[in-house]
Amino acid sequence: MQIARIFAHQVDLPLVESNYKWAQGKSVATFDSTVVGVETKCGLVGYGEVCPLGPVYLPAYAAGVRAGLKELAPHLIGLDPRETAKVNEVMDFALKGHPYVKSGIDIACWDILGKFTQLPICELLGGRFGESVELYRAISQLPPDEMAANVAKYREEGYRRFQLKVGGDANTDIERIEATRQVLAPSDRLVADANTGWVLHEAIRVVRAVKHLDVYIEQPCVTYEECLTVRQKTDHPFVLDENIDSLHAFLRAKSDNAMDVVNLKISKLGGLTRTRQLRDLCVSTGIAMTLEDSWGGDVTTAAIAHLAHSTPEAFRFTSTDFNSYVTVSTAEGAPQRVDGRMQASTEPGLGIQVRPEVLGPKVVDVS
Ligand SMILES: [Mg+2]
Repeated sequence: MQIARIFAHQVDLPLVESNYKWAQGKSVATFDSTVVGVETKCGLVGYGEVCPLGPVYLPAYAAGVRAGLKELAPHLIGLDPRETAKVNEVMDFALKGHPYVKSGIDIACWDILGKFTQLPICELLGGRFGESVELYRAISQLPPDEMAANVAKYREEGYRRFQLKVGGDANTDIERIEATRQVLAPSDRLVADANTGWVLHEAIRVVRAVKHLDVYIEQPCVTYEECLTVRQKTDHPFVLDENIDSLHAFLRAKSDNAMDVVNLKISKLGGLTRTRQLRDLCVSTGIAMTLEDSWGGDVTTAAIAHLAHSTPEAFRFTSTDFNSYVTVSTAEGAPQRVDGRMQASTEPGLGIQVRPEVLGPKVVDVS
């Protein structure tokens, strides 16, 4: 089996809530997503998706996905897409860094492997654990009372885990955490994700002010060293996200006891192959995970579901149904949330069929 063609479609994904705001006034109204296709000589086609959270969240941007695909694709024609480790070796040799560019190709290769073996990706990644995957809802940054109202609204839809977008003014963030914790049941899980938005002294003020509340603190500051300092000054459970962008970053943080939970995003790490490696290491070293991506639609949500469903339940902190945040559906068969949970498809590969009428023309096409 050989890769004969690599192509991509650009898709706009408007938000149900009209925009999404997080730390330091950053926001996105319409996500710019790239659906990547890998086609074999024998006619099998696999799909992946890469959707950065705008250009200012991680070192990734939407047009960079397409430019990177044009750079990478000629090196991959003729490779066997089922040999995912080899495909990744070639990608890493042909283009240094830029893991998000490689993620869509890697997911598409797993989709092909699943279609070839007639197995869903979650079974290829280790097996299906449990009936379904518990989701969290990200709560866009707003005044404290509005965020608390949104938490209550999404709680009625079945969610029991929530991630507050803080990382703004520290005093307001303290109010945000207090207001939202009040509308939750004791068993509900609340994360305050500053997305690098606090400077060190503000982060320390916030964690002291909410010391009496049951809340997880995620990625308070920009640098790993600042986050480690905050970690050492609080007994709140602690999550690292933006700083854990590689296996080596994780190994260092684990060695420093820098977190209790880690956020693994498929495109941040370069695809399912690399994310599985780190996922398995987290399980072996006792670190629970948020398993998700930076953003996306139906294809990304399907990939998240397979990754999460193949992870032992005790280590699944949360995952995200991104396709319920956006107004456009790019594929049939993608997971649909029921009572705050979703399931990976039992169909081969990702278990989805893309909608050609939504994807539009190819904006990258290398054969
Ligand atoms: Mg985060």
